[in-house]
Amino acid sequence: MSHGPPTTIVRGLGVAEGIGIGRAICVAGRTADVFRLPIDPSAVDAEIERLRDAVERAQQELDTVRRRAGRELGEELAEIFDAHSLMLDDRAFLGRIELCVREEKVNAEWAVHTTTEALEKRFGALDSPQHMARIEDLIDVAEYLQRFLQGAERSLLGDLNEDVVVIADDLTPSDAVRLGRERVVGFALENGGPTSHTTIIARSLHLPLVTGLANVTSLVHSDQPIIIDGSAGELIIAPSAAQIADYEQRRKSLVQANRAKTLSRGLEAVTRDGEQIQLLANIDLPEEIHEAAEFGAAGVGLYRSEFLYIEMSPDLPTEEDHLQIYGDLLRSIHPHPVTIRTFDLGGRKLAREVLETREANPVLGLRGIRLTLARPDIFKIQIRALMRAGCEGPLKIMIPMVSAVEEVLQFKQLIAEVQEELRTEGLSTCTTYELGAMIEVPSAALIADALAREVDFFSIGTNDLIQYSMAVDRNNEHVSYLYRPLHPAILRLIRLTVESAERAGIGVSICGEMAANPRYVPLLIGLGLRTLSASPRSIPELKAQIRSVEAAEWREIALRCIDLATAADVEREVDARLMVEEQVVS
Ligand code: PEP
Ligand code: MG
Repeated sequence: MSHGPPTTIVRGLGVAEGIGIGRAICVAGRTADVFRLPIDPSAVDAEIERLRDAVERAQQELDTVRRRAGRELGEELAEIFDAHSLMLDDRAFLGRIELCVREEKVNAEWAVHTTTEALEKRFGALDSPQHMARIEDLIDVAEYLQRFLQGAERSLLGDLNEDVVVIADDLTPSDAVRLGRERVVGFALENGGPTSHTTIIARSLHLPLVTGLANVTSLVHSDQPIIIDGSAGELIIAPSAAQIADYEQRRKSLVQANRAKTLSRGLEAVTRDGEQIQLLANIDLPEEIHEAAEFGAAGVGLYRSEFLYIEMSPDLPTEEDHLQIYGDLLRSIHPHPVTIRTFDLGGRKLAREVLETREANPVLGLRGIRLTLARPDIFKIQIRALMRAGCEGPLKIMIPMVSAVEEVLQFKQLIAEVQEELRTEGLSTCTTYELGAMIEVPSAALIADALAREVDFFSIGTNDLIQYSMAVDRNNEHVSYLYRPLHPAILRLIRLTVESAERAGIGVSICGEMAANPRYVPLLIGLGLRTLSASPRSIPELKAQIRSVEAAEWREIALRCIDLATAADVEREVDARLMVEEQVVS
């Protein structure tokens, strides 16, 4: 009988379903854009070589920038770059980073990060203006260097030859995208929640994700065998051979069950009393395009275009890159419409290349439309591509993070400028697109009547609407108990938005994760919503739920719920009714 290490089961919150079986790889870096990755002692020299290569490329680019700045801005301003260049040449600085790689056996990104942090602390303690200026240079250079280390073409985990489960305190959505493209079969995280962007990405990649695993990076060691079960919210450390065989079987059954779900594609999404509900697809990654049709979506209700940017970082997508993906989307879902949301960068979604300042509170900062309007030079590229792609099929353009009418007006102005530019260049531009606003900031819901005069449709983003109206970070597991979609305040904001849209005669849909949950869908129908947008794979289950309920009855329930005092009261009312319906069906 073999005596391996004992099996441990750790429970958290399963937020993306699926089963992954592989070796653990522990990464760290909750606050940093980079994470710590242990490397094999035999890989240290290669890692240092990679660092030196990045320094050289950074130095070359800095020289080019310096020369251009000298020509365009004058010598005095260009000298700013000299300090950066000197620092990139500084053996003491680079020597420390190399030492860190060598002694701690970590990736170069992490070594740059920790060395910079340590130096920042030491200079900061000296508390002089001269040292403060040096800290700023140091941070700039470190960020610059990271860009060259983390090129989009680089694999984050090196050359893996087996499946791995990533164990981390936190992961940014961009890391999740990039890791998901490698041999990663699941994520186990300390931080995050059901509507965090990292979770949304894990679902798009069909990778299991369990969050809320306190101290998970100390509980698991890199290389340990792991099973992750995203449905049960469990992490099995050092499983037995029998457990591995059992979960392998379960994994296969899940894949088959998902395939079987596509069979409901031909069924109508209609309530028992004949209300037609339109089910659209949320798409984050290009490979999901084919799933929209496969699972019976009647169009794309949300394409999160910022992931195109995130995937190409540190390069910015060109007009042709945009054009290609928008064209693919429009052609593959034709004759149904495609709703493309303009970049919702900022917040936790990486925007290093376009953000000029470091923000203390990015979720309340230059995010979404605010960033677009602040950097029209960059975002016009996207708008140009949208205007050109719109000739391929019915296009709906959606503006994220709207909080005031002026933002919509300024955006329209930007479109008008772009159209003029395209005409001057002799390029075709579409004129039949619809323009919509996301309702995800409470102020937008409260002035929905005024916004409705400026746009053709609304799409309610409950992920942020809940975050901003309840003042609860959607990524923070410590306050997740306050993140209650059925809070009467949320129901009132949704109802207000739907009523304003109805009065103005414009369309209204919902594309937050609330629309993907069969528990909430009957109430959303009761609140007047007839268009729901959710991940393609959730559509069959939503359809089944829709076909089992009566819209008229849920309208009455919704009206009652809006007047209740607490989220718990609403949850009780909703769950009690759903239970009765379940009994009727069975
Ligand atoms: C939302 O906020 O509900 C939404 C759909 O946008 P995102 O999740 O990308 O913030
Ligand atoms: Mg949002």
